[in-house]
Formats: sequence, structure tokens, C-alpha cells
Amino acid sequence: MTPEGLNASNCRFTARISPFHDGEVAASERQQISAHLQECAICRDELAHLQKLSDRFTQISPPAITPQALRRVHNAVDAQRDRSLGRVARAFVAVAASLFIVTALWVAQTSSAAPESLVPWETHAVDPQSTTSANNNPEVAIAQWMVQDLSGSNAHE
Ligand SMILES: [Zn+2]
Repeated sequence: MTPEGLNASNCRFTARISPFHDGEVAASERQQISAHLQECAICRDELAHLQKLSDRFTQISPPAITPQALRRVHNAVDAQRDRSLGRVARAFVAVAASLFIVTALWVAQTSSAAPESLVPWETHAVDPQSTTSANNNPEVAIAQWMVQDLSGSNAHE
């Protein structure tokens, strides 16, 4: 270990070498750092290190992103966004479906008589005894199940 074994943090300019290398410093600071580099080996090493990294990065990276590649990135982002919206939409549909079933059951249970316009399963939900013409309708079976479940009745036909 030598007294000259200074690490990067021993020079207050070292932290500015990276912005200097990237051209992100003001003209006055650029001049100051340039002058400092003449007399500071630590900062010269830092700059050389950054240049080496920069060169290597330039070698392995493509020259520029093509418009086609850029469009693919945009499409991927859009697709991701659509999927997120899809999840929300599916959740909304599930809630809407639940509300529809609850409403249908509420209507079925509060109606005193079945209007003419009711389809077979609705008629059956209103009056489970009138199963005359709809026994082979799967919707009726579901309605019957729902009514029995709701009324807590275990009666099996
Ligand atoms: Zn320095």
C-alpha cells in the first residue's frame, strides 16, 4: 500500500469525469476539468476507463434503432396495455353478470304473477310449481336450482 494508492474518491473532480465524458457539463466546468486532467492522474485514469467502456458499448450495440424495431416496441407496449384493460373489462363483466343474476332473482321473487313476456326459466323462477312445458329446458333446471338454493329448500323433485 502506497500513499499514492489513491482511489477515485480522493479527488473532488472524479465524480464530474463521467458527466464531462458524456458532454453534460457547462462550458466553464468543461474548461476547468480539462485543465485539471493535465495534472491529475486519477481523473485521467477515470476518463480513460470511461472511454474504454464507451468504446466497448459502441461495438456491441446496434448503430441505431430502426423505425420497424421502434414500431415493434410500441406495439408490445400497446398490447400490454390492452391486456391490462382486458383484466379490468373481464372483472367488470363478472360483476355485471352477478348483478344480473341478483336482479333476475329479485324480480322473480317479488313478482306476484308471471307476465306474458317471461321466458320459460323466468316463469319457472317465479312459480317453481308450474314446470309443465319446460322440463327439458336446461335454463329451467338452473333457475330451479337457484330458487331452491335461495329459499334454503332441500326438496328434491
Ligand atoms: Zn482529479
